[in-house]
This record gives sequence, C-alpha cells and structure tokens, in this order.
Amino acid sequence: MAGGNNTSTPIPPHSQPRLRYGDFNPTDLARRFESLLSARRMTELAERARSRPSTPAMSYSSLPAQTAAGTPLPAPAYSSLRNIPKLATPPKDTSAARFRSLLIAASQTPVNYENPGLLDEALKMLEDCGALRRLYDEAAEESQILQAQAASISDHEKPLWDEQDCLIRALLRWFKRDFMKWVNNPECSACSAPTRAVGMTPPTQEDRARGAMKVELYQCSECASYERFPRYGDVWTLLRSPKGRCGEWANLFTMLCRALGARVRWVWNKEDHVWTEVYSAHQKRWVHVDSCEEAWDTPRLYTEGWGKKMSYVIAFSSEGATDVTRRYVRDTATNGIKRDQCPDEVLMYIINEIRQMRRQNLSKEEKRRIIREDQREERELRSFVVSALTAGLEKLVISNVNTKRSPPPGPGTVGSGSSTVDIKLPARTTGTEEWRRLRSENGAADDQQQPDRQRHP
Ligand SMILES: [Zn+2]
Repeated sequence: MAGGNNTSTPIPPHSQPRLRYGDFNPTDLARRFESLLSARRMTELAERARSRPSTPAMSYSSLPAQTAAGTPLPAPAYSSLRNIPKLATPPKDTSAARFRSLLIAASQTPVNYENPGLLDEALKMLEDCGALRRLYDEAAEESQILQAQAASISDHEKPLWDEQDCLIRALLRWFKRDFMKWVNNPECSACSAPTRAVGMTPPTQEDRARGAMKVELYQCSECASYERFPRYGDVWTLLRSPKGRCGEWANLFTMLCRALGARVRWVWNKEDHVWTEVYSAHQKRWVHVDSCEEAWDTPRLYTEGWGKKMSYVIAFSSEGATDVTRRYVRDTATNGIKRDQCPDEVLMYIINEIRQMRRQNLSKEEKRRIIREDQREERELRSFVVSALTAGLEKLVISNVNTKRSPPPGPGTVGSGSSTVDIKLPARTTGTEEWRRLRSENGAADDQQQPDRQRHP
C-alpha cells in the first residue's frame, strides 16, 4: 500500500472519482473504511469459498419485510395499456406450440446453475487464479468511493450501487478483459494459421454430452486441415475452456454471477443475442449486464446503440420467466419487430406455465415475495412505455410548434427534461466488422435492413 500521500494511492482507472469535493477527501474516507472492511471481506471470502454448505444464499436482504407491504398490491391495470394482454390463453396452432417448446427448453438454462457442485467448482477456479480476492477488493474499493460520493451530496443520499452490485461490476470487467476469449474463426490447431468457415458438421457423442448440438467447421488457409468449433452449452465445459461468442459468454458469465451469490437471469432475444440480468437488492430492480460488451445497466444499448430491431426479449431465472421486451425496446415504432410467434395472450400463458413449474417447490412466503416483485417490475416496465409515449408526444408538440414558425425550444421548454431519447450509445464492439455488418449491429453506420436469420450467437 502507498504511504500517506493521497496522490500516490493507486486507484484503478475505472473507479477514479470524477469530481473534486473541496475540503472533503474521498480517498481519506476510503482508507478509513479500508482497514475495517478488509477484515470483514476476508471472513466473507473464507466463508463463501470453503465452509459454504450448499448453494450460496441469494441475497434478498434489502427487500422490504413481508409485513411492511401489509396490504396486497392491486392487480396491475393491464387495460391501461394498449399492447398488454388481458387474458392468458393456451397455444392453439403449431407456431405457438413450437414457440412454447422453445421457451420451455430455454427456461432450463438458469436452472442448470442451481448446482452446488458446479458453483463450488466455479468459486474454486476464481480463487485458484487469484481473481476472487481481486474482485472483492475492487468491489470494496468502488463501493467506498460510491459511499463517499453519496455522503458528499447529503447525509441521506444513498450510494448509487452497493457492494454486491460492485462485486458483479468487478466480475464483469475481469471476465471481459482477462478471462473469456472471443472466437470468430478458431485458428488452425496444426499450424496456428487463420481458418475460413466451411459450414456445419454433425456433433459427435462427446460434443452432445457437453451440450454442443451445433458444431461449426473451418478449414485452415495454409495447411488445409479442418478445425471443428463445437458450440458448447454445458457450463462445466465452458468453465474449463472459456471461449466462444455471445452464447458461451452469457452462459458462463451468468453462472459466475450466481456463484458470487447474485440472483441472476439469463436473457434470451429472438433476434440472436443473449445476455444477463442481475438483481440489485440495493436498487430493488433487475439490472441489464452484457458481458460481451462490458455493459452495465444500459438496456437501450441494442436498439439505440447497435441499431438492432427486436421482437421478443424473455428473461429466465430459476424462479420463472418474464417478458422484458419493454425494458430493451423503448420505441417500438423504430426498433420493434412484429411479434408473430403467437398472440401475446398465449405468451402470457406460456410464461405463467414456466413460473408455475419453477415455483412449485417454493414456500407460500417466497411465492408471495416473488409475486410482489413481479408486480413491481410490471410497474417499472409499464413506466418505460409511458415515458416513450410522452417522449413521442413531446416530439409531436415540438414539430407542431416549429411548423407554426415559433422559435425552437430552448432549455427548460417542452423539449427538454424527461425525454431520454438523445443519449449516444456505442455500436457493438465484439465480433469482426464484417460479422457485425451482416447482423446489422454496427450502429448508425448501418442501414435499417436486418437479415431474417444470422449466424448463431
Ligand atoms: Zn493449418
């Protein structure tokens, strides 16, 4: 550790405070916390890594007490919104039945993480490579800085994220920068030269045993030998061989978040992408996390950054499924795709089915808690639709005002404030330029066109 001079204290660039606080010095405060917290951290580390009897408890601690809510919340007023179904209806045609099978199969993914042996193995791997200690240190450090920032605003200000959130943020940085490997074309294992794709090849028995139902085939540009690239779905295999594209990244990253005690969702998008959501007990909501892009809490990245159009975004957890499309597609006119797999009433039925299946062994108390959580999320998702409608109205008003030759709206007029449409989000960073272009995920550089079916994520 550095001496008393605060300018020599090494703070990783990602967590450097951007503001100066006059007399208030966050580094000093951070240091005072440091000695206190480091003891606690090491105890936690030891507990988590060794004596944990089974699956780490998911942290519900910051949820409101069961009795605090007292009166049951009113049922969501679905009728207040246009595109929200009123009544769940069973699938009637083959398209809906196929969609149901697909969603039920996908809903198994996060259930696979609920395996104490697997989670222990994951923690052991993190510990053995020295990452676990580093992640807890970074989380504590960032959390202290956020606390100091909040304290500098007022005594009652809550920090933006708590230490558990910061732990996942640290995992996200480490996973993307130091651990997982992105593979476009695998290199030739005989001569290390680049390869070119030549199609698919059938999976062997061993591939299938490791969850690889699809195997891509490549040919070396130098020695012409073939290279197989099995797309492993089995998270044990991925833990030992951490490489692949979004599918492998999201699968492994979500499991590692779970291993660190987070409540997780594996999020599936019909237009060929998958990512993670982690529950922030501190903020009492699900937070978007994309390990491929090192993206945290930027759900509009895909539509407004990549220029992607999406129809269905479904989040699966060990406790059920939720249609979270409204979180990711704010402007359905610009970024939505027709939802044509089944009527929304049928999707609702399928989601209820998955929830029942996953929740049947929960206690009454747990079921009530999770229903309240569903209702809170429904209000959050509905608020996105309302904001989008409001923003649309504002635009309309502005264009009307402008056509009447009034001066354009300045700060503080109708065009400013609540509208969140103008934030600049980055284009996709993973994959080659060509691959991104084919997938129409290159942000503003792309046209609106999106091919029907792209390569598997
Ligand atoms: Zn070769």
